[in-house]
Amino acid sequence: MPEPVYLDYAATTPVDPRVAARLIQYLTLDGDFGNPSSSTHPYGRTAAQAVEIARAHVAALLRADPREMIWTSGATEANNLALHGVMAVNRKPRRHFITAKTEHKAVLDVCRALAQDGCAISYLDPEPDGRIAPDRLAAALRPDTALVSLMHVNNETGVIQDIAAFGAITRQHGVLLHVDAAQSAGKLPLDMQTLPVDLLSLSAHKLYGPKGVGALYVRQCPVRVRLQPLLYGGGQERGLRAGTLPTHQIVAMGEAFRIAGEEMVAEQAQIREWRDRLWRGLVELGGVALNGHPERHIAGILNLSFARITAEALLAAIPEIAVSTGSACTSVGNEPSHVLRAMGCDEWRMRGAVRFSLGRFTTGEDIDVAVATVSAAVRRLRALSPLQ
Ligand SMILES: *Cc1c(COP(=O)(O)O)cnc(C)c1O
Repeated sequence: MPEPVYLDYAATTPVDPRVAARLIQYLTLDGDFGNPSSSTHPYGRTAAQAVEIARAHVAALLRADPREMIWTSGATEANNLALHGVMAVNRKPRRHFITAKTEHKAVLDVCRALAQDGCAISYLDPEPDGRIAPDRLAAALRPDTALVSLMHVNNETGVIQDIAAFGAITRQHGVLLHVDAAQSAGKLPLDMQTLPVDLLSLSAHKLYGPKGVGALYVRQCPVRVRLQPLLYGGGQERGLRAGTLPTHQIVAMGEAFRIAGEEMVAEQAQIREWRDRLWRGLVELGGVALNGHPERHIAGILNLSFARITAEALLAAIPEIAVSTGSACTSVGNEPSHVLRAMGCDEWRMRGAVRFSLGRFTTGEDIDVAVATVSAAVRRLRALSPLQ
């Protein structure tokens, strides 16, 4: 059987061949393999220059200052650094933290650790369409609130949050705002010159870069966000993130973000077209529910539940396409999605949720194959289903 059609871009993307070509130039003796911290010879200095060019590319995509970018091993570490880092410098009296029930585990699991460490945490409920109402954030603020963490685009439903509205509220109250932008960077415009966001997490492998590298934006102007590091060592990244910089991964992330800046608008328009074609093809089956907001969603994610069919049964019936149930991270535990549960979805919608996610290399033919295979499988399974 040929490789299945890949429609799981929200879990990870393939590395763009242009990015891979750059990455391999920073590994071997004939490449720029030096340690960027070795300032005594050209090997190190060339590597350091490459790191700074990459930093400028990543910053440019956000209209940020390169000095505001801290390299990390991914968005998980960036989230950990932001949350632990801010809460650690806010010992008494500010120990309250606000997030939402629909966040990624890379925020929610940090919250559990923060709670054990004595932080008070409020979890905002989403509306049934997945959006967090800014009013709910305003109502949850307390005099001792230090930090709010809310994601930009949800990785399961693709719902886009109004981070500008969140930031307007946090600014007014002198509270810091962290945004997990792993699913939105390079897909939606992000302008740190105008967005009232203080910390923002990025990942390379959701944007055609390699796994194992990401960055945290840390605002320096007008106010400098203070953070306590997670890692201590060689003092890299202004002491905020010790460890030898992985030049090859950083250069690759820089190239991936540079390409995204050039191609984002056209690419998102194409992806939206394929996503709409997939939706139009599947909705004809009847008994199809869209999990998420009908308009305020990213182009590449379509989360659907098919009445009377569990996601597991459907996935087993469509080996021709690679999709996921809920999110890859929650499907490990085989638990129904915490995101859909928080949105108040019925049991059948939680059990039946399948996430289709499209990207740069998706073709019209991929979509036609997906519509045909899913439609046939849904009809077959429904015919077998005892529940009418
Ligand atoms: C993928 C993802 C992460 C984790 O990013 P890594 O770089 O894999 O650590 C965090 N948050 C969201 C919203 C994601 O989609």
